[in-house]
Amino acid sequence: VDETLVEMLDGAVRRHRKAVALEFFGETTTYAELGEAIERVAGGLRRLGVDRGDRVAIVLPNCPQHVIAFYAVLRLGAIVVEHNPLYTERELRHQFEDHGAAVAIVWDKVVPTVLDLPSDLGVARVVSVDLTRAMPLRTRIALRLPIAKARSSRAALTTGVLASGAVDWSDVADARPIRRSHAGPEVDDVAVLQYTSGTTGRPKGAILTHRNLRANAAQGEAWVPGLERGREVVYAVLPMFHAYGLTLCATFAMSMGARLVLFPRFDPALVLQAMRSAPATFLPAVPPIYERLAAAAAERRVSLGSIRFAISGAMSLPVATVETWERATGGLLIEGYGMTETSPVAIGNPLGPSRRPGAVGVPFPSTELRVVDPDEPTVDRGPGEEGELLLRGPQVFQGYWNRPEETRETLLDDGWLRTGDLVRVDADGFVTIVDRRKELIITGGFNVAPSEVEEALVAHPDVAEAAVVGLPSRSGGETVAAAVVLAPGAELDVEAIREHGRSRLAAYKVPRRIVAVDDLPRSLIGKVLRREVREALLASDG
Ligand code: ATP
Ligand code: MG
Repeated sequence: VDETLVEMLDGAVRRHRKAVALEFFGETTTYAELGEAIERVAGGLRRLGVDRGDRVAIVLPNCPQHVIAFYAVLRLGAIVVEHNPLYTERELRHQFEDHGAAVAIVWDKVVPTVLDLPSDLGVARVVSVDLTRAMPLRTRIALRLPIAKARSSRAALTTGVLASGAVDWSDVADARPIRRSHAGPEVDDVAVLQYTSGTTGRPKGAILTHRNLRANAAQGEAWVPGLERGREVVYAVLPMFHAYGLTLCATFAMSMGARLVLFPRFDPALVLQAMRSAPATFLPAVPPIYERLAAAAAERRVSLGSIRFAISGAMSLPVATVETWERATGGLLIEGYGMTETSPVAIGNPLGPSRRPGAVGVPFPSTELRVVDPDEPTVDRGPGEEGELLLRGPQVFQGYWNRPEETRETLLDDGWLRTGDLVRVDADGFVTIVDRRKELIITGGFNVAPSEVEEALVAHPDVAEAAVVGLPSRSGGETVAAAVVLAPGAELDVEAIREHGRSRLAAYKVPRRIVAVDDLPRSLIGKVLRREVREALLASDG
C-alpha cells in the first residue's frame, strides 16, 4: 500500500464520517470529529514550533487525546515517540536523552516529572492532558486515582522549571486547523520511534516509517477473514505506548473504520461494564488478560460471545488459556508473533479451523522467513531443524535510533532482520517459537530452553507460574534454576517438583535450585523479566 498513515486516516474519515471512531467512558467521537480534532491539534502543535522530522513525545495512557495527538504529529511530518506514562523519572530521562524531543504531550499526573527533567535535554514545551476530569468517580476509584485532585495541572505547570513553555491541551485542541496546503509526510518518512520492551536490556528506539506501519495495518486487514469495515468494535486494553497496542488499536482499527473503545488500564470490571453498551467484536490482548477476563466474565455472568476475534501475542500463549477462552466465548483465540522491529506483526495463525494452538502460525502476506545457524546467520538450517528466525518484509524497521552497531548486527544484507528468537518450522510451514537465543542456558555442554522447563514446571499442580534462568556454576558453565509462584494453599516441596520435572524432561534440564516467590517480575505488557529473576536469585545466594 503506497500511502502514509495520514492518508490512511483521511480515507477512513471520508468513508465513515458518522461512525463512532473513539469511545472513552461513554463519551464518543465520530470519524468526522476525529478528523477535525487532528487538524486543530496539528495547527496548535505547528504554532508551538513542531516541524518536519522533529520528535514529539507522547506520554499518555490510552485515551482519545492519545489517538488525536498521534495523527496530529504525523500530519506535520514529525515523528511520534511513545512513552510508558508509568515510567520512573530515571527511565523517562534515558528516553528523552536518546530521542531529544523538544515538545511533549503528557498526562497531567506525569507533567511534574517531565518538567523536572534536566533543562539541557531541551524539552521546551509540555502540553498537559487532564484525563481525570473526563472520568466518572467510580472509574477514578477503580483506577486508584486520587479522588480529590491533589494539584490541578495548571498549578503543577506554574511550579515547574519549564513553566514558560507549558500549555494546557485545550490550547492546542482549540487552535485554528492546520492549513490544507501545509505539506504532509512522504510514505518513506519516519513516522514513529518505537522503543522495544526492554525485556533483555535497555529499550532500543526502533525507527518505523509510514510505509512500515501502513503495511502492517494492511497485512492485518488481509489476514482477518470477514472483517466488516465500519462495524467492528475493537477494545484497546493493550497500552498504545507499546508496538502491539499501537498498531492494533491506533492504526489497524482506524484503517478499517472500527469503533475503538479506549481503556487507560486493563481492568476486567471496566471491560465487562463496556461490554453491556458497546460489545467488543475484536480483542487484541496477551495471555494474562484473556485468563483474567474469562474468569471475571464467568463470575459475573457477562457474555463474551460478541468477540469473534481474539488475537494473542508478545509472549507464548498456553494451550490451556486457549481452551478456557474458547469455552467462555465460543469465538477463536489465536496466537501471532511479532516484535517492535516488525511494526510489530510478522507471523500469525489463520483465523479459522486450520489455526494450531502451540504454534505462532505462518508468515503474514509479503513476509518471508529463513531459519539459520544462530552463530553463522548466513548458513541456513535444514527443513524442520531448530535455528534463529530471520524475517524480511515491508514491515521491517529501518534501524535503531542512535545505535549504529546494534543496527548492523540486526539488519543483515538484503533486508533480512535477525530476530534473536530460536524457532522450528514444520513441514507445512507452521512456526513454533523455542526461546530467545540470549536466554538459552548452557549446562554441561547442553542447551536448555527455559520455556520448555517452565512449561514442565507449571504442569505440576502446586506450581502456578515459573521462571527459569541459568546461574553461574562452579565448573564455569551454568546451572538451571527456577523461581516459582505456588498455587493458592500449596507449600514448596522441592523434591516433589524435581521428581515431576524428571518425569517430563531430560535430567540435565531439571532445575537444581527451586525457590518460591510471591510474584514474578513482569514488564508493563506482562512479559516475565528473566534477567531480573536471575539477579534476584544471585542476590539471594548471599
Ligand atoms: P527488548 O528487545 O528490549 O529486549 P522485547 O524483545 O521483549 O524487549 P518486543 O519488541 O516488545 O521487545 O518483543 C518482541 C519479542 O517478544 C520477540 O523477539 C519474542 O521474543 C517475543 N514474542 C513475541 N511474540 C511471541 C509469541 N507469540 N511467543 C513467544 N514469544 C513471543
Ligand atoms: Mg527484542
